[in-house]
Amino acid sequence: MKIVYCACGCLVRPARVEAGFSNCIRCANENPVERPKGRMVYTGKVGAEIEIMSAETWRENKDRFCPKGARSAVKNFSKSVCS
Ligand SMILES: [Zn+2]
Repeated sequence: MKIVYCACGCLVRPARVEAGFSNCIRCANENPVERPKGRMVYTGKVGAEIEIMSAETWRENKDRFCPKGARSAVKNFSKSVCS
């Protein structure tokens, strides 16, 4: 088994090395990497797909993913949409 030391001098746990990391858990927590985000895509009546994207892409398109406003179609029509 390969022994890897982090840039801070700590020993990197073997499980982390196996997973391809070269930094220790403390440094990893100090510099958090943003998790990928996903959204549900309903392509048909049954089932759905999950689209996975980077956190940055998600943030840029957040307005399009999160429904806002009235849920009811009647309320949507009764609102003045042209103003
Ligand atoms: Zn470290």
